[in-house]
Amino acid sequence: MILIKSSSQIDEMRKANIIVRDTLNLLRDNTKPGVSTYDLNKLAHDYIVSQNAVPSFLNYNGFPASICVSVDCEVVHGIPSKKKILQEGQIVSYDCGAILNGWHGDAARTVAVGIISPECQQLIDVTEQSFFVGINSIVSGVTRLGDIGYAIQSYAESFGYGVVRELVGHGIGREMHEDPEVPNFGRAGHGMRLSHGMTIAVEPMITMGTERVDWCADGWTVKTRDRKPSAHYENTIAILDDGIEILSL
Ligand code: MG
Ligand code: MG
Repeated sequence: MILIKSSSQIDEMRKANIIVRDTLNLLRDNTKPGVSTYDLNKLAHDYIVSQNAVPSFLNYNGFPASICVSVDCEVVHGIPSKKKILQEGQIVSYDCGAILNGWHGDAARTVAVGIISPECQQLIDVTEQSFFVGINSIVSGVTRLGDIGYAIQSYAESFGYGVVRELVGHGIGREMHEDPEVPNFGRAGHGMRLSHGMTIAVEPMITMGTERVDWCADGWTVKTRDRKPSAHYENTIAILDDGIEILSL
């Protein structure tokens, strides 16, 4: 069931998403070689709590941390650890969620650790751009879910990249994961029409090689099957009568 939000409810979601945005900016600014992903998780956790919000990932289906930190071939759901120390040349994806006054925010960014290869920088840039290619043409009452997926997929694949199929975006509101599913692939003109008051998280997961993934033995971490790098970019958006608003930018 799709839950339509009023403008005052979207106002509440904006506040939660601004906390998420600011947490991700804090993580970006503290990304450097030698930092442990455990310390980055603590930084994020403490900031979210200082804003009177709740880190929504912590204990979500048993997830043991407040953010997901996924390095290089890890696509999503990497678990922060004292043993995982960032190294020059890696790329790291941060996925963060917060609840404020019962409303959820959810966003993700991929950033460079020190100096990275041009190939990795292009992967980060194309992943981010694919999000905007996917959402920029949304027209309330006209655009369908398949149009978003088609736009993201066509753009990413034009660079020879893979689009992960097994994980998708989602509706968001009083729950982190609501209907509908929002795939990053699809056929133009297919799927549900988007309309005013829908709030969704659009989150392309783009790989340098195969789009196939492995689910690791820790029960969480998802890696590319060929162990090539992967990037993730996500924002929560609201569909409005006159376009869209990106709530987490
Ligand atoms: Mg997320
Ligand atoms: Mg999400």
